[in-house]
Amino acid sequence: MEKINYHQNFLEELEKIKSSKPSLLLHACCGPCSTNIIDSLKERFEITIYFSNSNIYPSEEYYRRKDELFDFIGAYNHKNNTNIHVVSDAYEPEIFMCQLGVYGNVKEGGKRCYLCYQLRMEKAYKYANRNNFDYYTTTLSVSPHKNSQWINQIGEMLATKNTKWLFSDFKKDNGYQKSCTIASDFNLYRQNYCGCIYSYEQMLVYKEQKATEE
Ligand code: SF4
Repeated sequence: MEKINYHQNFLEELEKIKSSKPSLLLHACCGPCSTNIIDSLKERFEITIYFSNSNIYPSEEYYRRKDELFDFIGAYNHKNNTNIHVVSDAYEPEIFMCQLGVYGNVKEGGKRCYLCYQLRMEKAYKYANRNNFDYYTTTLSVSPHKNSQWINQIGEMLATKNTKWLFSDFKKDNGYQKSCTIASDFNLYRQNYCGCIYSYEQMLVYKEQKATEE
């Protein structure tokens, strides 16, 4: 199937709304991934960040990423005289893992990840719709490891006329590199695995292999 250029869709949507400043709920997986996105969208949207990531294991890591995001937004607002809000969903890892566990043996990038995007994006959409946001989207596509085609398909599928999906492929236009630069300027903690217990265990195996080789 031919890939859709979602970055182009994003640029076209920005053109359509250039004389207004709609509200946007931005689902964020962590501080570093949100950096360049808020920097590039802050003049175009009234942004609220939504932290909903019950996929993260263990709980210490969840709270570390969450706290880092909240601290970053505070520091960013202070530095840029902006008023970006950040809200958090409940942490419910048991419910989440019950659902992801079906695909526990599937390697990263497969069905487990599709479901993981979907579960988090459903929560973001519901929150956005309940609170009358004009648009919602997610930081997930900034990562070179995430499937932007899937993310945009899910986003579009969930969206309604009242809460539109903001098409995006935030890694484009050097988005990933720019986010690394801003994260480093703010001295943000950057995790070395995606989030779930499966990616955590994979990271430990990789670390052990590296240590044996050295
Ligand atoms: S590897 Fe990442 S995207 Fe995939 S299921 Fe785990 S946390 Fe979710």
